[in-house]
Amino acid sequence: MMGRKYFCNDVIYTIFKKHHCPVCETQLSRIKVSKIVNSKSPEAKNYDFSGTNGFMVGDVEFIWDEFYCETCDKTISIDEMKRIERTARFSMHIRAVFDFLITDYGLEYKHQEFLNAYDGNWTVQAYSFYNNSGCFTIHNLVQRDELDFYHSPKFSQELSELCGKGVNICTIEPEIWDKHTKIWFFKRPFFWLNNNKVLSVFAEVLKTHLSKNKEFFGIQI
Ligand SMILES: [Zn+2]
Repeated sequence: MMGRKYFCNDVIYTIFKKHHCPVCETQLSRIKVSKIVNSKSPEAKNYDFSGTNGFMVGDVEFIWDEFYCETCDKTISIDEMKRIERTARFSMHIRAVFDFLITDYGLEYKHQEFLNAYDGNWTVQAYSFYNNSGCFTIHNLVQRDELDFYHSPKFSQELSELCGKGVNICTIEPEIWDKHTKIWFFKRPFFWLNNNKVLSVFAEVLKTHLSKNKEFFGIQI
């Protein structure tokens, strides 16, 4: 008899919250996905063969949940769905805190996703604010949740052109950065690891800077 293993990946996330297809917005349903893996095959290292009665050997059927969009006839893994939703929340945060660059200073805004960046499996979310004088890009390396900031002479659809020159955002209005990092250093030593917080402070920094200057990082306002 073939072994069989069902793993409940994240029941709360899949059952109690509604999730929607990123392409067509249809509410997703849950489906069971299965795969037969032999314990001696090369891909066995990606599966957990431990069972209630010890190790399972031979062919084992693994069963788990994924999301399914009936409109697109497509399955989406739970990890992929979490990544999509986290990116959507992060994008909304950026769009909200930097809205003044668009409405008050007339900058253009573009969010681009680059898959398989840097000759690897990296996903980059790039948020660009630009006009004729230059382009400022917030660069988020999704897998590491890292933020970097770049200036380029103009907006581009090429990641390498967007990320021509790195900029250090702490060089403008250092006293505002100081104030926040000092206050939070004791309460929140991981200030620099909280991207939403860093971006909220950076928005405050930019507002102050632009009230006194006609440019930021080489972009004329
Ligand atoms: Zn769909």
